[in-house]
Formats: sequence, C-alpha cells, structure tokens
Amino acid sequence: MPSIFSYQSAEVDWCESNFVRSAVIAEYYNTISNVSFFLLSPALLYLNRQYCQKKAVPLYFVSGLLILVGLFSMYFHMTLSYVGQLLDELSILWTLAVAYSFWYPQAYFPKCIKTRYDQRDTVRKSQNSPLSWSCLCFWISDRWLCWLWQAINFPYFHSFWHVLIALSLLYCCPLVIYFDVSYEMPSFKPKLEYWPSDSWPVVVPYVTLEEPHKQC
Ligand SMILES: [Zn+2]
Repeated sequence: MPSIFSYQSAEVDWCESNFVRSAVIAEYYNTISNVSFFLLSPALLYLNRQYCQKKAVPLYFVSGLLILVGLFSMYFHMTLSYVGQLLDELSILWTLAVAYSFWYPQAYFPKCIKTRYDQRDTVRKSQNSPLSWSCLCFWISDRWLCWLWQAINFPYFHSFWHVLIALSLLYCCPLVIYFDVSYEMPSFKPKLEYWPSDSWPVVVPYVTLEEPHKQC
C-alpha cells in the first residue's frame, strides 16, 4: 500500500500528462501556474493599502492563506500525493472560512440585493463575468473533455484555471472590501479606483478610502 506522501497516491490525476517535462514534477504546468497566487497576494495588499492601514487583519490573513493555497497546490500537482490533495483542498476551505468569518457577518449580504443604484454599479464594475465563467469552463473541461485535449495535445486547461481563479480574486476582493467599508467603517467612504488608470482597456479595481467628515 503506497504511503500517503508518495507520488501519485492522490485520488485525482488531472488531464496534463505526468513527468513529461521533469522527472520530479508530475504535472509541470499545473505546478508552475500557481505562481499566480504568489503575485495575487502582494498585489491585493499593495493596491488596497489604504484599507489595510485602517483594518489590517482581514486582508493580511486572507492574503497569507492565498499564498498557502498556492504552495499546497504546487505541492499537490508536483507530487499528486494524497497528502498534497488534502492540503490543496483544505487550504481552499480554510481561506473561504476565514474570509467569511471576517467579512460575511458584517457585510449583510442580503441587503445588497436591495442596494442603491450606485452600489449596484459598483458590483457591476468590479465583477468580471467573462473571467469567472472562463474559470469554471476551464475546470470542467479539464475534467470532462480530457480525451479531446489529449487528442489535440493541449491538456493544459487546469493550469489556466489556476491563473484565472487568481485573476478573479483580484477582481472579487475589492468588491468585498468596498462593502466592508460601506457597512462597517462609517467614518470612511469607499471609492473604487482602477489600476493603472481609468482609461486603460484592461484595469484592476481597488478601493481607496475618503473621509467625508473632514471636508465639512
Ligand atoms: Zn489545481
């Protein structure tokens, strides 16, 4: 019986062929594509630094966990070990649980459905639906259409999923921060800004804080 740490002891094996590009990395592209998580965390912290200065714990915690998600996912796809699979799946659940515990109870999400126009506009602007849908399609197609991707010699959709899910979080987190400031930090007014600038065709949203009372 193989050890739970041994190579290929996991229950899942993704579409990418194993040990093609390296003798020690089972799924090469699925492993290296997790670098996107190491870029995501510092980007979130840097762009939303005003929020972090006022309320450091949630974003630091979630960013730290996202680095762990990247690390454990790398370990999993490198070894395809059972422990790797558990760590990969558990770290995602930890991150979701921590994010919910910091943000969900205070954000009063049901109220967002009845939100004012400007907040609906914020939701629309900071959501990137094509990105979210592509994530989902890539994950599903890697599982279900693997025979097709192997036939055309392009079994890399799970690595695209890694990159796109990190990108989606870059768009989703400012939205959560925006509502946290709206509902929980009444002395500040959140403002959605775009990096590198408003006029660029592709932008990354982030939140700055205005102090409305100081203008009086
Ligand atoms: Zn993965």
